[in-house]
Amino acid sequence: MKDDGQHKQRIALITGGASGIGFAIAKEFVRNNIFTIIISRDPAKLQKAKDELGASCEVISFDLTKFERVPELIERVQSQFGSIDILVNNAGINMKKDFCEVSNEDFQTILQTNVTSVFVISREVVKGMIEKGRGSIINISSMAAQYGIPKVIAYTASKAAIDGMTKAMAVELSPKGIRVNAIAPGFIATDMSAKALNSDSERKHKVLSRTPLGYLGDPSDIAAAALFLGSDSSKYITGVILPVDGGNSIGF
Ligand code: NDP
Repeated sequence: MKDDGQHKQRIALITGGASGIGFAIAKEFVRNNIFTIIISRDPAKLQKAKDELGASCEVISFDLTKFERVPELIERVQSQFGSIDILVNNAGINMKKDFCEVSNEDFQTILQTNVTSVFVISREVVKGMIEKGRGSIINISSMAAQYGIPKVIAYTASKAAIDGMTKAMAVELSPKGIRVNAIAPGFIATDMSAKALNSDSERKHKVLSRTPLGYLGDPSDIAAAALFLGSDSSKYITGVILPVDGGNSIGF
């Protein structure tokens, strides 16, 4: 979908959009006539997403931690499909380990995927957004940045960094027409949360007991918020970290 000024279809890039929350966002965007490009590492997952989402979706197999190749990737995406209106930094990995068991490599791996890659891809996409004088960036944060959760030290550090980056990007980029916000999902039913909760019934009980709505969220709950933050309905909103969490962040 080449953005040649002849059409008004917006173009979104979603990292990690072939599964879980990212896929729900992609589905919602396509349903709302947004041409959606998905990046993830797994070609089979990408093909499945493409088969389900159809002609308004393109998929690219790419490892976002190959930082030096990101500028070329974004150039290629923009010359093929047009400049990006909405960037959703959703790709992320988690690791549940006791504090003293986390190696330097473990810590670095999480930070490189969850933080450095968000910075690198945002920098490259922002260059095109500045030229157009508009854009919306949505970072996916976590409850781990709102309060302390044991056994996820690197993940917590990464999501706290995302919140800080969201605010710093918002103040620097909003004057250039680029809004930057984050969504802080509560506990959402995906493979990632299943890994963390299904083998740990005590943790699952704790999660549900401090979630006033009393159930896990659905990926589509996050998708609805992303659609709002990506659209002009939120044109006066920038720099917020929006909890979509059934009240978990304010639960007793
Ligand atoms: P998933 O594991 O389903 O999605 C994460 C996606 O990121 C995968 O599709 C994966 O695709 C992609 N990804 C990971 N590393 C890379 C990489 N190096 N390059 C490209 N793509 C990559 O998990 P969720 O949908 O649950 O999580 C999505 C986001 O939401 C994450 O940022 C997570 O931290 C956040 N979140 C989730 C919560 C939940 O309860 N589920 C709660 C709070 C936050 P592939 O393996 O194919 O590369």
